[in-house]
Amino acid sequence: SQDEGRNRVVEFTYSDLRRAQADQLLAGHIPTALQGEEFYVAYQPQLNLETQDVVGFEALARWDHPEHGTVSPGRFIPLCENSGYINALTLNLLEQICNDLPDIWERYGDIKVSMNLSPFSLLDREFIQAFIDTATAICDVKGKVSLEVVENLSIDGYESAAKNLAALREAGFDIILDDFGTGYSSLSYIRRLGASVVKIDREFVMNLNQSNHDDLAIIRSVVSLGKQFGFDVIAEGVEYANQAAILLEEGVTIGQGYLFSKPLKIDHFL
Ligand code: C2E
Ligand code: CA
Ligand code: CA
Ligand code: CA
Repeated sequence: SQDEGRNRVVEFTYSDLRRAQADQLLAGHIPTALQGEEFYVAYQPQLNLETQDVVGFEALARWDHPEHGTVSPGRFIPLCENSGYINALTLNLLEQICNDLPDIWERYGDIKVSMNLSPFSLLDREFIQAFIDTATAICDVKGKVSLEVVENLSIDGYESAAKNLAALREAGFDIILDDFGTGYSSLSYIRRLGASVVKIDREFVMNLNQSNHDDLAIIRSVVSLGKQFGFDVIAEGVEYANQAAILLEEGVTIGQGYLFSKPLKIDHFL
């Protein structure tokens, strides 16, 4: 009835409001959290699907708030982006990663760690310079730290993003195109962003089985493009052994997902 409809609207607006208030409260804690040690890095291993060797780690942000408990990145990353703290968070995480790198190399040899770069940061020329300066001042990242970027760049932002990515590559950071297949990805995108690795989104791995021809076709074409144009392919969200087996059969050599490990503090892997 009309009444029900109206109630639903009122209810929705009310929970929306509470959500916005809770977000505002949480966002207010970000500066303090950045000063302390509430933000930390969880590492998820990337495995060679054939040998099962760890060939890399993705660094993922975590927030344990003393009162609010664990806040998911799906929630706090947008809050950081909208309150202007995403660059500070990224630099904070970079410093933590630089601290961890010597231990990681000692345990795993010469492997790479990748971190996520927000589209907001990618468009910020000054930040990119600060990021490069920080990286070179506190650790030698040349060829050791990769940057995962997503492809939801507007046409407006495209030029400056491409310039900034070129500066990052010049400084020794490899570029990984994250969440491939979820946006407007195309071969020209991979080429023009200078990505050396493409990460197939979990969406295409999730329902992978021999009878799922659409997802198989997409994976096959990414792998074949990778061979032709010289980029590596990583599959994310690998949860089951049969998914890993199919991926390997299709020529995907690196996998990341709960099958191998959830993202955990580095001590766990050392
Ligand atoms: P993402 O970059 O696509 O990261 C992969 C997400 O998938 C992570 O979620 C990871 O925990 C999860 N995952 C890994 N393996 C599996 C699996 O087998 N199954 C399932 N269901 N999920 C899996 P998380 O850590 O919650 O991060 C969510 C998103 O938040 C990330 O997606 C990324 O977009 C963003 N994010 C996380 N850390 C950072 C950061 O330091 N900076 C920026 N800008 N964004 C970040
Ligand atoms: Ca990522
Ligand atoms: Ca991803
Ligand atoms: Ca994803």
